[in-house]
Amino acid sequence: MKIQNYINGKFVNPIQDNWIDNYNPSNGKIYSQTPNSSKDDVENAYQAAAKAFPKWSNSSLEERSKILSKIAELILEKIDFLAAAESKDNGKPISLAKQVDIPRAASNFQFYANAITQFSTESHESVGLNAINFTLRQPIGVVGCISPWNLPLYLFTWKIAPAIAAGNCVVAKPSEVTPMTAFLLGEICNEAGLPKGVLNIVHGLGTTTGQAIIEHTKIKAISFTGGTKTGAHIAKIAAPMFKKISLELGGKNPNIIFADCDYNKMLATTVRASFANQGQICLCGSRILVEEKIYEKFKTDFSKKVAELKVGNPLDEDSNLGALVSKEHLEKVKSYIDSAEKEDAKIIFGGKKVVVKGAENGYYLQPTIIEVTDNKCKLNQEEIFGPVVTLISFKTDKEALTLANDTKYGLAAMIWTNNLNRTMQFSKQLQTGIVWVNTWLLRDLRTPFGGIKNSGVGREGGFEALRFFTEPKNVCIVYE
Ligand code: NAD
Repeated sequence: MKIQNYINGKFVNPIQDNWIDNYNPSNGKIYSQTPNSSKDDVENAYQAAAKAFPKWSNSSLEERSKILSKIAELILEKIDFLAAAESKDNGKPISLAKQVDIPRAASNFQFYANAITQFSTESHESVGLNAINFTLRQPIGVVGCISPWNLPLYLFTWKIAPAIAAGNCVVAKPSEVTPMTAFLLGEICNEAGLPKGVLNIVHGLGTTTGQAIIEHTKIKAISFTGGTKTGAHIAKIAAPMFKKISLELGGKNPNIIFADCDYNKMLATTVRASFANQGQICLCGSRILVEEKIYEKFKTDFSKKVAELKVGNPLDEDSNLGALVSKEHLEKVKSYIDSAEKEDAKIIFGGKKVVVKGAENGYYLQPTIIEVTDNKCKLNQEEIFGPVVTLISFKTDKEALTLANDTKYGLAAMIWTNNLNRTMQFSKQLQTGIVWVNTWLLRDLRTPFGGIKNSGVGREGGFEALRFFTEPKNVCIVYE
């Protein structure tokens, strides 16, 4: 089967007829073809978006809200179909796609259907000057949205929903590794009555299609989620054109465990925070820092729990871990595991590829726990983005904080403690955009989402995304 671009409400082949093979990670077989769109395809998408912009940007908030709600409703109606498609395309357990990815894609649209009706601007009365200032928040025009493969529809819609809610028209590109659900979204948008050209989806490689989007002189803003290296490249291209950019990048998140925590809750959540989606979530706690007093106990209990996880065909409802997204990614993750010996680190559990019966060519890997002694080692400094976590112990709060902050990344941190003072001190001093205390991945869509340091620039979520996708204009009126 062939995936097509979605331009001006229609499904079209790439102009140059270039295609990329799309693999099913659960069995290593090619099961579809994706366009590798050229500059000309991106230009067509841009033209369609530019044409739709005047009308869409002047549509009433009620109209936008109604259409976004309808998209959300249709996604939920098709949840089984979309979850199966996501699982096949990405390798994630179908249970996860059904419980998290697809419901969240619907929530993204529903959230911004509501949020846009509540978005307001400020006014400032210049008392004594007979003047009043008010702020207009106007859509930017045509914006670019580029997303990664780990949470395909979830992250794709997380950008598109606020962009169109704010009145922009969009040229969007999902990851070439997981294009399927973005393709299916086009049909849903048509069914929901989204006017043609408001959303255009072009598929292809980052270096061709993505590059054409970021280089396009008239695409005035880029919302990007992906790797730090790609983010730096986008920033470099965008800067001379003064494009607005929002970059959500990599992470190396510490999961800091103190002896005074609620141990059982911590243990269950830590298993999830380590290996959900095969550890391919930018928010996973990949560095586990444990207070020395409970280190040995934790190591034993954690290894026991992890040993119970089932690696299997993602379409089996009882698989806890599915396949990694691609052969290249599997090899990359495995090479980190293989470097453990050189790094003076010890594999406590896992570390091996898994052969699943009936799907022998799939990209399966055991959940892996590695004990490290030095936070400076590659395993603790570089983003692995797979089912691999490291363990390291600490003695004092100060040491834990130093270890936690000793990385170039700054996306998220977890802390497990019942000590209020410690909670507050860590919340203030952790160099991350997100701190979870006694929980992980509890997401309230109103909150600002994003990282600092090499984890990105800008925030998504809530009104932050609506601010990103609009330009504020101050109007000053003097009266007699
Ligand atoms: P990636 O950077 O390789 O690709 C992301 C997207 O960018 C893809 O659509 C890709 O085609 C495109 N791209 C690549 N080169 C491009 C270029 N030159 N111009 C324009 N677009 C280009 O990342 P990935 O491997 O797909 O995703 C994994 C990474 O994403 C990890 O580092 C992970 O931490 C990060 N991530 C971050 C968040 C967050 O919210 N901070 C969320 C999920 C994933």
